Amino acid sequence: MPCIGHPADRKAVKAKTPEHVVVVGASAAGLSAAEALRRGGYENKLTLIGAEPHLPYDRPPLSKQFLSGEWDQDKVMLRPPAHLADLDVMTRLGTPAVGLNTADRKVALATGDEVAYDHLVVATGVTPRMLPGTPKVRGVHTLRTLEDAQTLQTELESGTRVIVIGAGFLGTEIAAVAANAGVQVTLLSNASAPLAGALGPELGAEVAALHESHGVTIRTRQAAGCVITSDGSKVTGVALKNGEKLQAAVVVVAIGSAPAVRWLDNSGLEIGDGIECAPDSLAAPGIHAAGDVARWRNRLFNLRMRVEHRTNAVDQGIHVAEQILAGTRADYAPVPYFWSDQYDLKLQSYGWLRNHDEVLLTEGSIAEGKFVALFRRDNRVTGVVAARSVKALRRWRELIINKASWSDALDAL
Ligand SMILES: Cc1cc2nc3c(=O)[nH]c(=O)nc-3n(C[C@H](O)[C@H](O)[C@H](O)COP(=O)(O)OP(=O)(O)OC[C@H]3O[C@@H](n4cnc5c(N)ncnc54)[C@H](O)[C@@H]3O)c2cc1C
Repeated sequence: MPCIGHPADRKAVKAKTPEHVVVVGASAAGLSAAEALRRGGYENKLTLIGAEPHLPYDRPPLSKQFLSGEWDQDKVMLRPPAHLADLDVMTRLGTPAVGLNTADRKVALATGDEVAYDHLVVATGVTPRMLPGTPKVRGVHTLRTLEDAQTLQTELESGTRVIVIGAGFLGTEIAAVAANAGVQVTLLSNASAPLAGALGPELGAEVAALHESHGVTIRTRQAAGCVITSDGSKVTGVALKNGEKLQAAVVVVAIGSAPAVRWLDNSGLEIGDGIECAPDSLAAPGIHAAGDVARWRNRLFNLRMRVEHRTNAVDQGIHVAEQILAGTRADYAPVPYFWSDQYDLKLQSYGWLRNHDEVLLTEGSIAEGKFVALFRRDNRVTGVVAARSVKALRRWRELIINKASWSDALDAL
C-alpha cells in the first residue's frame, strides 16, 4: 500500500502541546509512551486505559522464566506499584475501550464512560488466534496474559502429555520449558521444521534437532487442519488431518495473534493487518499507534511492517511521544530486534527476516550453541540471527542500517 496519500499524511500535526493525552493499552508500548511524554516535559493530563486489571507487566518472561517457575509475579511487573501515580498518570485499569469517535475525539469505555482526548495513542497489542471449532474445555490454552501463564504453569507437571500446536517462537519456547520440566511434549509444526518460517528450513532443521535432543517429539507439516478433541469437559488430544489421533492432557495453541482492533470498528481508522499508519506512526490527525498493533511503512526497508517484538513496543512508544511533544512528522525507521530463549540457547536477531530469499550460515551451528546467520532479500542484507555472537550482531546491524548490498556483505565476511 503506498504511504503517500495515507489520510494521516495529508494533514500536518499542529505544534501545540495537547491538554489531554489518552493512551489505550497499558502494557509495554503504552507505558513507554506515557513515560516518554513525562520525560519530555509534558505536564498536562495523561490517562492510561487498560483492559487488564494489572499494572503493566512484561510478556516475554511468561513463556520463559515465569512459566518455568523461576520468576514470580512481582518479577514480571514492569514498574513498582507507585510508579504511575508518581508520574501523575491517571489509570483506568480493568476497563476496556469499546469505541472511538474521532470526530468528537472521545474514547468509549466498557463502563459506559467516555474519555475525551486531544491526542490519542493506541497501543492495544494483539490477541492469540484460536483454531476454529476448538471446544471450550479444560486443558486447552493460549499464552498471552499473566493469567494464561499461571493456568498453563499449573498443568505442566512432569510426565503429563502436552501437545503444542504451532512451532513459531512462542510454541518452541513453551515446548522448551515444558520439556525441561519433564513433560512429554509433542510439537506440531506447519512447516518442514520448527521456526522454518522465520529462520529457513536449514536452521529450522537444527532447531528441530535441539528440541529432539531434549525429548520433544516433532511432527512436521501437521499443524494445519488438526482438530482439538475433548470428552466434553476436558481436552483429550488432537486429531491430525491424516486421521491419526494424538492423546494429551494439555493442548497449547500457539498459531499466532491478531491485532486487538475490534474496538475500533466504525472509528474510521484504516484497519488492515493492524492499524495502518503513516511512516511516522500517525494513524489519523491526533492519533498515533505503537507496538504490536501498529502497521507502518518502515522506510529503512521500504516495507510495510507490523512488529511483534518487545523492544519495538518501547521504541515506538517513545517515538510517538516525541512526535506528539514536538508536533513533527519524523519517520519511524528502526532495525527491529528480538530475542528468543530455547533451553540454554539465546537467539538474537536484528532486521527483518520475513520473506527472505536466502539464509547464509556464516559461522557455527545451533548444535554448537554459537552461530551467525545472515538473511538476504533481493540484493540486500535484511537480517541477522545469532547466538553468543554479540560483536557480529552489532556489526551486521550497522550494515543493515547502511543498506549494505549482499555482495558487499559477502566481501566483508
Ligand atoms: C508469551 C510471550 C513471549 C514473548 N517473548 C518475546 C521475546 O522473547 N522477545 C520479543 O522481542 N518479544 C516477545 N514477545 C512479544 C512482546 O511481548 C510484545 O511485542 C509486546 O508485549 C508488545 O507490547 P504492546 O504494548 O504493543 O502490546 P501488548 O503487550 O499486547 O499490550 C497491549 C495491552 O492493551 C490491552 N488492550 C487490548 N485491547 C484493549 C482495549 N480495547 N482497551 C484497553 N486496553 C486494551 C491489552 O489487554 C494489553 O494489556 C512475547 C510475547 C508473549 C505473549
